Amino acid sequence: MTDIARSLREKLLHAAAIDAPTQVSDLIAADGTRKWLFGVGSSAVETVYIPEVSRGTLCISSQAGCTLDCGFCSTGKQGFNRNLTTAEIIGQLWLANNALDPTRKNRVISNVVLMGMGEPLLNYDNVVPALRLMLSDDAYGLSRRRVTLSTSGIVPMIDRLREDCPVALAVSLHAPNDTLRDQLMPINRKYPISKLLDACNRYLDRAPRDFITFEYVMLAGVNDSETHANELVCLASKVSCKINLIPFNPFPSAGFKRSSPETIRGFSEILHSAGIVVTTRKTRGGDIDAACGQLAGMVKDRTRRTISLRRVPA
Ligand code: SAH
Ligand code: SF4
Repeated sequence: MTDIARSLREKLLHAAAIDAPTQVSDLIAADGTRKWLFGVGSSAVETVYIPEVSRGTLCISSQAGCTLDCGFCSTGKQGFNRNLTTAEIIGQLWLANNALDPTRKNRVISNVVLMGMGEPLLNYDNVVPALRLMLSDDAYGLSRRRVTLSTSGIVPMIDRLREDCPVALAVSLHAPNDTLRDQLMPINRKYPISKLLDACNRYLDRAPRDFITFEYVMLAGVNDSETHANELVCLASKVSCKINLIPFNPFPSAGFKRSSPETIRGFSEILHSAGIVVTTRKTRGGDIDAACGQLAGMVKDRTRRTISLRRVPA
């Protein structure tokens, strides 16, 4: 950095380091989805780029593993290794941006979502500075509307984020009542649905968008009946929201099945007829295990299983 004074460079040399996570692999799926596995100490995390016609979204990880153990999530199943540092979080954006746009002339990554591995609100002290860098005009300059944090519903931390750095918020709901949500997402026993919805309403005062996105994974025979859809309509009437249905992405030993396309259509129709904005997520990158909930970052397994895929030349 020859554009700063020599004395400051000297100081920085002793006070700071510029280190990015190391790249373990880089794969491209048939649909253009690209997935990197980045080494962070003794474990690895995944970062996924999803190109679409009008935007390019980077899905980044906040923790190696996750403590929360949601039954349908591959990251949850692998247990928890550690929190990522701010450098490791922003480093995923830095590395992906350099790989996708070496000239840095085009804005290939227009949106960032914290929907990779881990629960971002349980790594708050590292996540918020990384968010600030994404938003800063001296760094990536993304608008708050284009940075989305997804949470399983850590109520007090939603309130803190509202004060500190209110980016767009997605909440993993996945069940329309406490009995079922307790089973699917153990965190619900601590922060039940009514408390979560209250926190969402408080967040909306400061949110960059006038709605919260509720994510709802479609699990065959578990949360996808007409009754569940009607219960969800009732919940959705309490918060200004959009609902994003996510077809379940299977992984070995999951113990759940994806709802059929007809069931998902019927479920969506019930919500739509009640006046709720509902979308169904297109599953991307399935051939490289880059879809939601499939991110596990087990280096050995992954490189063995994806050996036949096209590797991106270094
Ligand atoms: N911990 C945060 C963010 C990471 S998970 C959260 O739970 O919101 C990102 C999204 O993927 C969440 O909505 C999560 O519930 C969903 N997900 C997890 N496992 C999945 C699977 N196997 N199929 C589809 N979506 C899944
Ligand atoms: Fe953790 Fe989110 Fe997976 Fe639940 S869904 S185990 S909170 S990463």
